[in-house]
Order: sequence, then structure tokens, then C-alpha cells
Amino acid sequence: MQKGEELDEYIRECSKLAERPYKFILKFFTKKKRRVLLTFFLWTCQRSPCWVIPLATANILDALSGANENITEVIAKNLLILTFFILQNIFSTYHATKTFNKIVRGIESDLRGALVRKMQQLSIMFYKEIQSGKLLSKVTRDVENIETFLDQAVRSVFFIITDVVIALAVTFSRSIIVFLFFWLSVPMAIGIIMLFQKKISKENNTFRKEMENTTSQVAEMINLIPVTRAHGLQEVESRKIVKQVEATSNSGFQLDLVNSFFGATHWVAFQFFQALTLGFTAFLAIRGTITVGDVVLFQGYFATILNQISSLISLYPGFCKGFESVKSVSEILTEPRIEENAAIVPLGKLRGEVIFDHVTYTYKNNEEATLNQFSLKVKEGESVAFVGESGAGKSTILNLLIGFDSPQEGRICIDGINMKNLDLNEYRSQIAVVPQNTILFAGTIYENVTYGLDNVSKERVMAVLKQVGLTDFVNSLPQGLDTTLAEQGNSLSGGQKQRLAIARAIIRNPRIIVFDEATSALDSASEKMVQEATESLMKTCTTFMVAHRLSTIRNADRIVVIQKGKPVEEGSFDELMEKKG
Ligand code: ADP
Repeated sequence: MQKGEELDEYIRECSKLAERPYKFILKFFTKKKRRVLLTFFLWTCQRSPCWVIPLATANILDALSGANENITEVIAKNLLILTFFILQNIFSTYHATKTFNKIVRGIESDLRGALVRKMQQLSIMFYKEIQSGKLLSKVTRDVENIETFLDQAVRSVFFIITDVVIALAVTFSRSIIVFLFFWLSVPMAIGIIMLFQKKISKENNTFRKEMENTTSQVAEMINLIPVTRAHGLQEVESRKIVKQVEATSNSGFQLDLVNSFFGATHWVAFQFFQALTLGFTAFLAIRGTITVGDVVLFQGYFATILNQISSLISLYPGFCKGFESVKSVSEILTEPRIEENAAIVPLGKLRGEVIFDHVTYTYKNNEEATLNQFSLKVKEGESVAFVGESGAGKSTILNLLIGFDSPQEGRICIDGINMKNLDLNEYRSQIAVVPQNTILFAGTIYENVTYGLDNVSKERVMAVLKQVGLTDFVNSLPQGLDTTLAEQGNSLSGGQKQRLAIARAIIRNPRIIVFDEATSALDSASEKMVQEATESLMKTCTTFMVAHRLSTIRNADRIVVIQKGKPVEEGSFDELMEKKG
């Protein structure tokens, strides 16, 4: 199975596990059963000296106190065994880390891969409601937390289980009364965890939310910097972020306090308990129930058990953090708003006829429908401009046409096929969109224009750039087409950015073009060039546009006036002007 398909399969499985996020992670482990078993074996070897040392010590002490004749032989034998167990630790530790960390690092990259794939599948409507900073935090910080959590948790849990089982088994074989006494430590550990559990979980949750808010607010602040600077609002923005950072720091501090109090409480309780065990076993030794060697053996084992429980407890806050991150990641993996792509009817070569048939569309959380029984027939090759007040529903029409969401009632037919039955990818590969805000990325001009297309010759790109009047500009750059643009094309003027976006559309040879005209004012020279570029596009295919400039509207075959989600008037520019007198 290809990696992508494997991740998609994983995402599908995750979507059924919304209530039980921990199962996401178990799924990864069950996929790698062999490796996990090998790790368990190597960890057992790695840990074995800790179990053998107390045994050997007890044997030697008993031999010494019992004035055994073979005392030298006993000591030599025990030391030899000890040496073997201690030395093999280097080999087993190295290989255990190699085996286990490969699994954990694999999970880390698979989780990031699954998140990224899921993000590409989610409907555009989902993105309108979430801040990108939050998503960023999930892919980076949360996945890192999960990796740390797994690295520590699985190892610790394995060690504590084996330590406790071995210690209890040996103790049971030597003294049932001490074995029963050891069991008292279990309710004590559970009691301490229960006492703090709610508080630690709550503080962790608050801290995670504050962290997410900080990340998204900083991301938003960076995007807003030009606006902030232009309005002289640096102070206001800085204060807002500093306040948020302080809130995060406070909640982090509260978390530190709870964690520290928790750590100290269990440490003190365990030390008392260990002293109590020493007194108890010493008393048994005095009465002759157990040997001196046994006192040392039990003390050694008990210290190991307590240390393990102790480290498990001190890891508990980390577990909560990891678990919180598992929940955070699962919010995306189980998000149901996936873009529907039925792909039932093959589209073939798109002609470009579009029919809106009694389309009704209401945004989530809105009571009133934005589009209400909207109907419109557009012929192949026709150009239609939507005009109307802001909020009338013009962009919504374009969004539905691109397939960002589907209408709740009515249908949109492309070449006579209901869009609901189309393969959106096949459809979209034959249309082009020039959005209101040109989105350029940090790549070369060539890469930005040919985004998503393979093997486009430089001559073809230059020919298209000529159509949009950018030849002189590109030729004036030291590296021409290979000049790297700053992120978001910040080094370009508004008009240049728009013309690049139009070039990106033209080079696709689209059959339908969706053009959301930017409202920003351009200087008259730029406007003229944008205008010419738009016109050359309009000639080649069916064009839908939301137009603000009179010059654009004038060239459209048909102008449709939208009011409250309905077409109220339509006709050519001249016809409409005539009607208005
Ligand atoms: P226009 O492009 O004509 O200015 P839009 O299509 O953008 O209008 O918006 C039409 C109506 O839908 C407006 O009242 C707007 O508030 C609402 N709207 C737009 N996008 C959303 C959204 N993501 N969630 C909720 N309401 C929205």
C-alpha cells in the first residue's frame, strides 16, 4: 500500500474513534506488533541487572553470615553472573532504543502526515472558522508532545510492570508476609494519583488552550502588521499579545505549582513507607522469620518498586499533557466536515455550461438563507458579472460554483451534470479561479505561475506573461522567471500580483473561470493592464466574476444584479443603463 493510501486508511479508522482518542495511538502500535515485541524483549534484558543485583547481594550476605564453607565459591559465582547481566546492558539498551525509537519517530511522522492529509481533505468552510495558528500548533507542538509522551510512557509502564511482577514473584517465593505488606503500596499510590488527577488535568487543559490562543494571536498579529503600522496601532497590538502571553505564563505557573506539590507529596509518602518496610523486615529478621540477606533483598526490591511508581507518578503530568495533545490532534482527525467528492459521473472535457437551479444556501449558524431559490442559466463561453451590495451573496455564488460547499436545496449543473455527482478534482482541473486576495508563495515567478502543472515550457510562461503585460517587468529582474518572490509576493505591487494571478489562470487553459475582482484601487496604468488581462481571459471561456470596476462590468456579456441572494435584474451594460435612464 502506498504511504498516502495507508494514511487515508488510518484517517478513516480514526474518524470512527471520536470518543476514544487514545485508540488512535494504539492503532499505530498494533500495526508494528513484531517490533513492539522485540522492544519488550530487549527492555527485559536491559532491566535484568536491577533484578539480579539484590538477589546476588542477598546470596553473598547470607553466605557471609552463615559462615558457609564454600563462601568464596558462592561469592565468585554470584559476581560472575552479575558481571554478565551488567555487561549485556550496553548491547540491550542500544538496540532497545534503536528498535523502539524507530517506532515512535515513525508514529510522529505518520501523525503529521495524517494531519496534513486530513487538512487537505477538509472543506473550505472548516477553514473559515478556525485560526491557522491553532492548526499549526497541532501539527508541530501537539505531535511533539505525543512523541515525548510515548517515548516516556510506554517505556516507564513496561519497566514498572516488569519490576513489580519480578519483585513480587521473588518476594512471594521467600516470604508471604512481606509479599502481602508490599501490596499496601498499591492503594497508597492510586490514592495519591486520584487526589491530584482532576486538578492536574484541568490545569493542563487550560494551559493548552492558552498556548493555542497565543500561537494563533501571534500568527494573526504578524499578518496584520502592515495594517497595524498604517494605523499606528503598534502599542495596542503589543499590549494585546503581552496580555495573552501573561495569561499563558500564569496558567503555566499554576500548572508548575500543582505538579511540584504533587511530586513532593508522593515522594514524602514513599520515603515513609520505605522506612516502615525496613522496620518491618528488620523485626521479622530479629524473630528469625527471614534472613539478613532477605532484609537487604526486600529493601532493594521495594526501593525499585517505589522508584518506578514514583517515576510513573512524576510522569503523570507529562501523561496528561500528552493525552491533551492526543485529544487536540484527534479534533482534526475526527472532524467530519470533509469535502464531499462523489465522483459518480465522469465529466470528460468540460464545455462550460452552468445552470443554477433553485439553489438555496444557508451558512452554518446563520438563520437566514444567503441564497434563496437562486436560478441562473449561463451558456458555454458566456461572461457574467455579478453586481450588488456587499453581503448580497455574490462571493457565495462563486464559492458554490467552485464546489467549496454544496447547496442545501436545488442543484448546480455543469454541462448538464449535477455537481454533487462530479469528481471535483476532475472538474477543478479544468477551471481556474482568480481570488480576491492573490495568494502567492515563496517560490520563483515561474513556479507561482505554473503552480500544480508539470512540464510547462518557459516560452509558454513568457507568452502568458505577455498577455497580462508583465514581460517588461520580468525581463527587468536579474533572474527573470527564476526570480524568487518574497512570501505572499510582498515584493510586488498590487497590480503585478493580480496580473500574476490572472497569468496563473490563463496558463491552465480553463473552460470556466471564476474571477473575484479585488476592490483595492489600482493606479490607472495598472488598472488598464489588469483590465486587458481580464478581457483576454473572458474571450476564451465561460467567465463568472464579481466585478467592482465599471470597465470590467462593461465588457461582460451579461450583468446580473444580486439583492439578498436573488437575481433582481439582468442584461448587458447598455441595456441596464438604458433602463436606469
Ligand atoms: P458579497 O460577496 O455579495 O459581499 P457574501 O457572499 O460574501 O456577499 O456574503 C453573503 C452573506 O453571507 C453575508 O450576509 C455574510 O455575512 C454571510 N456570510 C458569508 N460568509 C459567511 C460564513 N463563512 N459564515 C457565515 N456567514 C457568512
